[in-house]
Amino acid sequence: MLTRAALFRSAGQPLEITEVEIDGPRAGEVVVKMAAIGICGSDLHTLKGEWPTPVPVVVGHEGTGTVAEIGEGVTGLKVGDPVVLSWAAGCGSCPACSRHRPALCVPLRKAWAGGTLIDGSSRLTTRGGEQVFRALTVGALAEHVLVPAGAALLLPAAVSPLHASVLGCAALTGIGAVRNAANVQPGETALVIGAGGVGQFAIEGLRLAGASVIVAVDPVESRLESALAHGATHACVPDDLKALVKAELGELFDHTFDVVGAPATQASAVRWARDGGTVVFVGLPVAGAKLELDSWDLVTREKRLVGTIYGSADPAELLPDLLALIQAGQLDLASMVGTSYPLDAVNDAVAESLGGAPRRVLVTP
Ligand SMILES: [Zn+2]
Ligand SMILES: [Zn+2]
Repeated sequence: MLTRAALFRSAGQPLEITEVEIDGPRAGEVVVKMAAIGICGSDLHTLKGEWPTPVPVVVGHEGTGTVAEIGEGVTGLKVGDPVVLSWAAGCGSCPACSRHRPALCVPLRKAWAGGTLIDGSSRLTTRGGEQVFRALTVGALAEHVLVPAGAALLLPAAVSPLHASVLGCAALTGIGAVRNAANVQPGETALVIGAGGVGQFAIEGLRLAGASVIVAVDPVESRLESALAHGATHACVPDDLKALVKAELGELFDHTFDVVGAPATQASAVRWARDGGTVVFVGLPVAGAKLELDSWDLVTREKRLVGTIYGSADPAELLPDLLALIQAGQLDLASMVGTSYPLDAVNDAVAESLGGAPRRVLVTP
């Protein structure tokens, strides 16, 4: 079918809204009519030219929609079902997939790098017949998206598709990092560096885990206000952190989370973890970034350094937990969602997101 999508061709150029041809669903695949797509920090890396990608590529990997077409053999989904997109539908048979960690699936990671589905095809072309690639196997910034059925996770009718658009990346990543990578316990203290979309959900995750002190650090004031609204007990700009720690904490943090992905903020996360504390790197760095660590400090202070991607969980298993929290009124998505733009205004959405919007900027095609 013909659909409209936002194509990225090169850094510094606006996204181009154009018609693309998508193949019909093969066995095990579905076509999703998109309702809302979140602009994620990972999209911004691509748009700034910080991650290599084949082009032209449909960017976007977080969103919701309804099943519009269904391939043979798909079970558990029917046309019209609301779904949340996942960007980690693994091959299902590799060692990582058998450990329920599809984001570590080797064939999937090859597909991310190649801008295709796991089978190596992208199944997308321009009207002129040029091959179009897909970001993180999804390419969500479009009116319709063809994905494996495992990337379309059922959304209960009671949850607003607009609000749920943040579930597929930001929520799973942020809350999963707290639960699975750090295993935060009630009464523990935590620092979150970077209070964008994923950072706000890390703060929510810490609140839900019963952390006693949750400090959010971000240079953008509006994000600090948002962090306080989501459960942070303290929030400050980076320059004020030292004074705040001195005034409020007896020792450094049990857990620190870098949600930025820059070597400087990662080093800061290592620094502010207490002896024996856990440092979690959540933010995705620029391709090829290297971090210099004080290895003496890491060893003798028994700091544990953990990387995490996509909440260190299988999205198909973690999402139902988050949906239960939402339906029980314990996790509010509405306040996570900011301005919505039509697909034709996608470049305005990107500009707002680049400006450090405290809430997720959405595109609603
Ligand atoms: Zn993302
Ligand atoms: Zn796999």
